[in-house]
This record gives sequence, C-alpha cells and structure tokens, in this order.
Amino acid sequence: MSGYVPATYPHRWLPEQVELKTWDQIEPWYRKLMDEPITSAHDLERWMITAGELNAAVGEEGVKRYIAMTCQTDDPAREAAYLEYVREIEPKLKPILNAIRARYLDAPERTQLPGERFAVLDRALENRRALFREANIPRETQLAELEQQYQKIMGAMTVTFRSQERTLVQMAPFLEETDRSLRQEAWELAAERRLRDRDVLDDLFDRMKELRIAVAHEAGFANFVEYAFKNRERFDYGIDDSIRFHNAVEQVVVPLMRKIQEEHKSALGLEALRPWDGAVDPLGRPPLHPFQDVEQLAAGTKTIFDDVDAELGAQFAFLRQEKLLDLANRKGKAPGGYQTTLEDERLPFIFMNAVGLDADVRTLLHEGGHAFHTLACRGEPLAAYRESPLEFCEVASMTMELLGARRLDPFYGAKDASRSNRKLLEGIVLILPWIATVDAFQHWLYTHPTHTRDERRTAWKDLLERFGGIVDWSGYEEERDHSWHRQLHIFLYPFYYIEYGIAQLGALQIWQRSLSNRGAAVADYKKALALGGSRPLPELFAAAGIRFDFGNEQIASLMTTIRTELNKLSP
Ligand SMILES: [Zn+2]
Repeated sequence: MSGYVPATYPHRWLPEQVELKTWDQIEPWYRKLMDEPITSAHDLERWMITAGELNAAVGEEGVKRYIAMTCQTDDPAREAAYLEYVREIEPKLKPILNAIRARYLDAPERTQLPGERFAVLDRALENRRALFREANIPRETQLAELEQQYQKIMGAMTVTFRSQERTLVQMAPFLEETDRSLRQEAWELAAERRLRDRDVLDDLFDRMKELRIAVAHEAGFANFVEYAFKNRERFDYGIDDSIRFHNAVEQVVVPLMRKIQEEHKSALGLEALRPWDGAVDPLGRPPLHPFQDVEQLAAGTKTIFDDVDAELGAQFAFLRQEKLLDLANRKGKAPGGYQTTLEDERLPFIFMNAVGLDADVRTLLHEGGHAFHTLACRGEPLAAYRESPLEFCEVASMTMELLGARRLDPFYGAKDASRSNRKLLEGIVLILPWIATVDAFQHWLYTHPTHTRDERRTAWKDLLERFGGIVDWSGYEEERDHSWHRQLHIFLYPFYYIEYGIAQLGALQIWQRSLSNRGAAVADYKKALALGGSRPLPELFAAAGIRFDFGNEQIASLMTTIRTELNKLSP
C-alpha cells in the first residue's frame, strides 16, 4: 500500500519534550531567544529558524486546543482551555513577535543574506512594520468589537418553520426541496428575518467604514482601498488588476452564467426563475447520496487520490492511518470544515462534518488539497515559507476538487458522477460573478467614503444588474437591495474575497492542462506546492505551469473549456 514514510523534524534548539502550556513556561524561552547573540549573517539565518521553531511549538499548543474544542464544543473543559490560550497567551505573544521582527529587520547582518532567498520574507516584514501605528490600536480594538457584534446579530437570527425554531443556516437545506411552495415559504421567512435587522446592520457598517478610513489615513494612505491592498499583502497585483478581473468576468463569465440559468429555468418548466429556485436540482431529482459512513468516504477518496497521483494517494493513506482526519458529523461538533497545521510536527489535520452528501465528497477533496500543500513544504527550514499566500493555498485545494471530479466511481455510477461533476463546474461559473460583485462593491464603498445609504443601495443594485443573473426579484426589491448584508466578508474581512476568484482561475488552468496532459499538470502542481510561500505569487503560478493573469483572453479560454466539458456530461 502506502510506502509513504514522512520525515520527522526534531527540535534543534528547544528540548524535544518541552512543556509550553502556560505563559510562565513559554516566556523564559522567548527571553532566551532574544538573548542569543547574532554576529554574522549565518547567525541571523539560524536565529530566524530558531524563532520559527519556538513559534511553531507555542502555536501548536493553540492549534491542538482549537481542534479539541471544535471536535467537542459541549465539553466546557476544552472550551476553557482554548479560551485560556486566546486570552492569556496570544495577546502576550504579539509584542514579542513585533520584537523578533524588529531585531531581524534592524540587524546589520541582514544585508549579507542572499537577497533572492529572503526577498519575500523581507517585503512582508517591512510592510507589516510600515503599516503599524500605535494610534490605530484602539481603532482596531473597536473594529474587532463591531465585527463581533455582526456575528452576534447574524447568529441570533432564527425563524419558526414547521412549528420549530431554526437558525438561518438550518433553513438553507429547504431551498433544495423539490416542492416549490415550500421553498418559497422557507426563503421568504429567512429573507424577512434578515430584513428586520437592516437598519442595525447599516448602522454597524457605517461605523466600521469610518473606523477603517481613519486607520488608513493614520497609516498615511489616501483611502482605505490602498491600505487594504497593502494590509492583505497584495504585492503582486494591484487595484487595476482587480478592476480588470471585474471587467473580464462581466464580459465572458456572466453570459455563460445566464445561459446555465436559462437551462435550469426551462428544465424546471418555469416562467421565471425566482430567488428560491437557485439550489434545487433542475430535474427534480432527490439529493445524491454518495456514501453511508465516513470509512466509506475516506476509502473512496483514497481511491480518487490514488488515481490522481500515487504519492498523493499514499499521503492521504498516511493521514487516515495517523488519525489526522475527523470527518463524521456528530452531536457537539462545531459546524463547517477546515484544514489546519500542527506546526511543530509539520502535519496537517482535516476537520469536517460529513453526513453523506455530494458536497461532503467535494469538501474532503478540497481539504485534502490543503493537506498535500502542508506536506509538500514540510522540509522548508524557514517557518514563514511553510505558509503560502491565500491566492495560492486555494489553488492547491480547488485543483483537487476538479481533478478528483474526473473519477468519482468509488461513489457514483456514470450518471450520478456526471451530475456531480456538472454541479461542480456550473457552481464555478455561478460563483465568479458573485465574487466580482462583492469585490466591485467594496471598491465603490471605499472610493466613495462620504456616500449616503441611498447611494449605497443604488450602487449595489447597479452591480447586481451588471453581474447578476436572470433571477426575477419582483416583489422582493427590498430584500435584493440589502442582500449584501449576508456577505460576512464585507463586514469582517474587507476586500478578502477576490482571492477565491484568483485561485479558481489557477485551479481551472491546471484542470484545463490536465485534460490533455495529466502527468505534466500533476507534476507541476506538486512542484509548485513544494515552494510553499518562498516565492512571489506569479512565480508560484508559473511553477504550476499556469499564468497569473486575470485578463479577458485567459478567462474566456477557461469558460470555453468548461462549456465543452459540460456538453459532454449528461444533465
Ligand atoms: Zn480552502
């Protein structure tokens, strides 16, 4: 079977069995680190590696407590242990990490380090320091509180449906029901509930906007857009590139999206596609049911990865064997799915809530891609380079969804495999315009800093017209005009969303290449993953054999391939 025996990374500076569970245990090690002498470029490089080793060991304590808590949220001891890390350890780490950064940046020996090797690290650390303003700390604290309020307001929304109180997350599955009047009822209830808080959410956003603009001005920027690009470490693309992405999506993706929606509408036999018609199967079939239990899910996924590449399959087998997967949904488990890294051992961990749905297969393929990324750059000595920019992390994961979808026979017969594959490809076409809408809206919000609520509403409406589909909102204009309130990124992570679009363009290119030369596509994918975060984004893309390009031609070529592949699939 596997033959995959991963390397181990013993500590070089810390004792192997060190306890780092409390601040009293942690702090002396940081003091010792700061006292280490540095007299040569070699010392400085070693010192950065040592700092990474200590940070990883401390960080792993936090990661382990997070995993433990999410695996069983109803255990108060686990929650207390995690919160203790967040409240007692994390805040004390921040000034120390600043001090480590300053010592590195100010070390005269730094000029003798090989520039090419350290360029990506240096630009990130210099940028962090350049953005830092003491005066912004209270503003950031206020922002964090407002962000938490958003979460609280959204989390508190419930409706009573079929005589049961349900959260809006719990309402989503009803939109897949084939009974149309039931879907409408469920959709209306949730939409009305959201609308009830529209003024609170608008107020909240206005306050966030003012604070963000103040943070940007304090840091010397003319507007928040420019600040946000630097704060998100967008060194390799600029505001113009985002605008180019919007235009390309409008011209070459929106027409295909509208065509797909037209097909759904006629398959459903409808006069008009209404807001509650988007999630149902167009042929009125019941949901796919790919597996009975998570053993079957893991075994089937292993077969798919084996087929993509023998080494990736062996790595996945290793994750199963080492119990680095927690896949089954059960009472008390936190919702959602994630891949995280046990930084000290340099091993991935996958968490999800599988219940037997098509989406579960896709989620495990996706998180598997993240895990391969973690494993691919384990050998990198500089901790900072074992992490990649988000725009490329999601290439690693989305590529596995696409390559995996070509061989779904462990879960489906030919017809169902086709249906699952179609859902994936259509889903990509439908999401890209939404990403452009959300991103373009934020550009508008912060380049019109003194806008009124009415102007904001009009701007959103215009963007929905520009990037939107054929959905008929008549009678629900109020709901439509406030539909941005649901997009948590606008409130919590400003400008963080286009990353998914950029990554999707990368994953689609690898998939496109794999259709004619799968061996080369997979080999280059693995080569690029192994670079971690050591190179700028365009070089990571180039190593994967793809282009870092958001232009019309590039996106049009991808849409043509999607259209061709969709035509080969049964409905
Ligand atoms: Zn992901």
